[in-house]
Amino acid sequence: MIELDGSQGEGGGQILRTSLALSVVTGQPLSIEKIRAGRAKPGLMRQHLACVKAATEISGAQVDGAELGSQSLRFAPGPVRSGDYRLAIAGAGSCMLVLQTVLPPLLLAGAQSRVHLSGGTHNPMAPPFHFLERAFVPLVHRLGADLQLSLRRCGFYPAGGGEVEATIVPAVGALQTFDLMARGAQQSAYAECLAPGLPRHVPTRELETLGGAMGWSGEQLRLGAVRQNEGPGNALLATLAYEHVTEVFTAFGEKSLSAEQVAHGLVKEVREFQKSEAAVGPHLADQLALLLALAAWQGKKAGAFTCSEVTEHTRTNCAVIERFLPVRFTIAESRQASTVRVAPA
Ligand code: AMP
Repeated sequence: MIELDGSQGEGGGQILRTSLALSVVTGQPLSIEKIRAGRAKPGLMRQHLACVKAATEISGAQVDGAELGSQSLRFAPGPVRSGDYRLAIAGAGSCMLVLQTVLPPLLLAGAQSRVHLSGGTHNPMAPPFHFLERAFVPLVHRLGADLQLSLRRCGFYPAGGGEVEATIVPAVGALQTFDLMARGAQQSAYAECLAPGLPRHVPTRELETLGGAMGWSGEQLRLGAVRQNEGPGNALLATLAYEHVTEVFTAFGEKSLSAEQVAHGLVKEVREFQKSEAAVGPHLADQLALLLALAAWQGKKAGAFTCSEVTEHTRTNCAVIERFLPVRFTIAESRQASTVRVAPA
């Protein structure tokens, strides 16, 4: 039994998702106490329960403590079962975080899986669909596995109702590790505004403000294809494609923010990344750490990447991964680009 303190480090939902994923991957039972203990609403919320349920579905796990507000959970998985799944999250909780939970085990299963996800597709504090599609999926391909994502319908807070189809094809043989030390030359940069159910001036102002600040031309500023009934919702995305990696940064509209403030928030994030020499940004870093750890474990070979910032999410994720897999992370921080390396222990 792996025993974890859910309040360690960043202390959020990611500890739960990574540990559920790796419990299923390795077959080791898991016990977590103090789940989200330091948060305003501690314990398991609806979106976390959806992740527990999803991990249970793909592994036939025995579970104790899977209740709203529960701060302790016991989870004893069976072997991962590839197949067709429908994983729904009530309301507008992020179904992309549900995917984050089931993806590692299904990537290592014996056969292909198809997962139909429903809920929020573009949520603050979660990977938006377009980030996963453009930034994350190519890294899965580099491991030798296949992941195809298709967006059927956008889901925003508070209405939800988004739908995503994921096809997950495990690698033939072990996952292959790699080094991603530099982003390479820039190939394209563009912004896209999703604003279903909002007046046209909102996306127009967001794109114009972003374009003005970044010096981007009209061709680089796009209105995303959305249906009006997918809203109301607002996500402003910047996609930067480089020779070795693509990054996607996202800002979300809120009632309390002007369109200009949303755009300036995104400009700040993009500039932080551009200023650094790293291959990946802060969010891709914590998600890539898990992929490379799986590959280092399976392929018995080290992998590494550089990132613009080592967040508490990344540190905590590395610490949780080390509890489950025989791998060691070394993190060397530097202003221009920090290096995260993962090697078999
Ligand atoms: P937690 O806050 O513990 O529930 O974890 C949130 C997860 O979502 C982490 O893996 C973050 O890297 C990821 N995430 C949050 N915001 C973004 C974003 N704007 N783009 C991509 N990933 C994100």
